Amino acid sequence: MSRFDFDLFVIGAGSGGVRAGRMAAGYGARVAVAEASRLGGTCVNLGCVPKKLMVYASGFAAAFDDAAGFGWSVPEPSFDWAALKANRDRELVRLNGVYRELLERAGVHIIEGRARLRDRHTVAVGGETFSAERILVATGSRPVKVPIPGAELAITSDELFGFESQPRRVLIAGGGYIAVEFASILRGLGAEVVLSYRGKLFLRGFDDDVRSTLAAEMRKRGVELRFGTTVERLVRNADGVAATLSSGDTIGSDLVLWATGRAPNTSGLGLEELGVRLDARGAVIVDEHLESSVPGVYALGDVIDRITLTPVALAEGTALARNLFGGTPTTVDYSNVPTAVFSQPAVAAVGLNEATARAAGHEVVIFRSTFRPLLHRLSGRDEQAMMKLVVDRASDRVLGVHMVGPEAGEIVQGLAVALKAGATKASFDATIGIHPTAAEEFVTMRSPVGG
Ligand SMILES: Cc1cc2nc3c(=O)[nH]c(=O)nc-3n(C[C@H](O)[C@H](O)[C@H](O)COP(=O)(O)OP(=O)(O)OC[C@H]3O[C@@H](n4cnc5c(N)ncnc54)[C@H](O)[C@@H]3O)c2cc1C
Repeated sequence: MSRFDFDLFVIGAGSGGVRAGRMAAGYGARVAVAEASRLGGTCVNLGCVPKKLMVYASGFAAAFDDAAGFGWSVPEPSFDWAALKANRDRELVRLNGVYRELLERAGVHIIEGRARLRDRHTVAVGGETFSAERILVATGSRPVKVPIPGAELAITSDELFGFESQPRRVLIAGGGYIAVEFASILRGLGAEVVLSYRGKLFLRGFDDDVRSTLAAEMRKRGVELRFGTTVERLVRNADGVAATLSSGDTIGSDLVLWATGRAPNTSGLGLEELGVRLDARGAVIVDEHLESSVPGVYALGDVIDRITLTPVALAEGTALARNLFGGTPTTVDYSNVPTAVFSQPAVAAVGLNEATARAAGHEVVIFRSTFRPLLHRLSGRDEQAMMKLVVDRASDRVLGVHMVGPEAGEIVQGLAVALKAGATKASFDATIGIHPTAAEEFVTMRSPVGG
């Protein structure tokens, strides 16, 4: 009989914590999960899921517009923010229940409350303490605001999901995927949207052709992009909030959305007191087995700040459970992680972009296709899709796949398998397309545009 209450105590029932806890319990471990808020974590409650539902909602506006070219006459559409919020929230409550059921069915003990480490084998939640042989910190991340005058007048994505009425004029500060996605969502739902970003072009880390294509297309859809500017000051006025930009311009809005980044949730957990090493951003430093500098204390997901995406947190949770309780040594392979931006039009990519491939020393051959999707031949919408392959000249290996266009996420997910399997350009060329699709373009690009 173990001297501990649990074999594994998980702090945080988000994507990574739930996966690790469920799998560990499946291997026979006695597992507890403490959750301070709602089961499912950020992705289910304040991230991927509610956001994607809003992406769907906003996509209808363009579909109604596009329908006319196909013979439809659509009465003037109207949108009900409260109806969307109510339906979306109902779905999230359902998912919270699904997560509870998954954990309970796996035999995981659920503890509601904020947890704090007392020592490397003891966790306090409320007035109770629990002992565990191993502790997993899976506390995720939180949005951060830049401390400018009036910062309290801005909200973050967390609060946006709770907004009761539809914002009509929105200023978004930031240039990451959250800023870009909400710019598209709110514009699609009918708001005037200005996005201010300090860099020359948003979506740092994505291929430059993707970034410039998306910027051009978002402008066509009416999003005002102000690159090279920062929001310096916010003041409340009769009309809402007035923002002064570094350019000197003033932007009036009824909502300022701060989307300038997220920070790992490590404060108030007792980690520093225990000697758990954190990096400069406050992320838990872990080794390849996700173990921190304190033996027996592990961390994964957004709180380790490697690749802050749900499927990565899930992969880490799986690896940890296998390592600790499954008898199968597993490490996470962080190469070729596909990713999408659910903007309008959408973006997705896997592998190296042109600049990172060159910087890594590859001599590359570039294939690129820019075209008007068939849908827009009749819809009349002036929108271009862009697809790009980055190929290593010496080995013919496809190093990167990049796309802006309809269903980019759905298309690139499949191609991620090909990259993981080490596909060459010759194998792309030998693949027969599905016609007529946009995706077939990836297997029909024959002439390099650069190298
Ligand atoms: C707006 C937005 C959109 C996103 N869209 C996508 C997307 O489209 N695709 C994608 O892959 N990723 C997306 N993400 C990222 C994704 O949500 C995260 O990468 C993922 O949720 C990380 O999982 P996690 O388990 O590390 O943490 P989380 O899911 O954040 O879970 C951490 C949990 O720990 C709890 N917690 C924190 N401290 C304590 C404590 N002391 N005691 C008890 N509980 C505690 C929190 O309440 C939370 O429930 C999005 C994120 C945001 C904010």
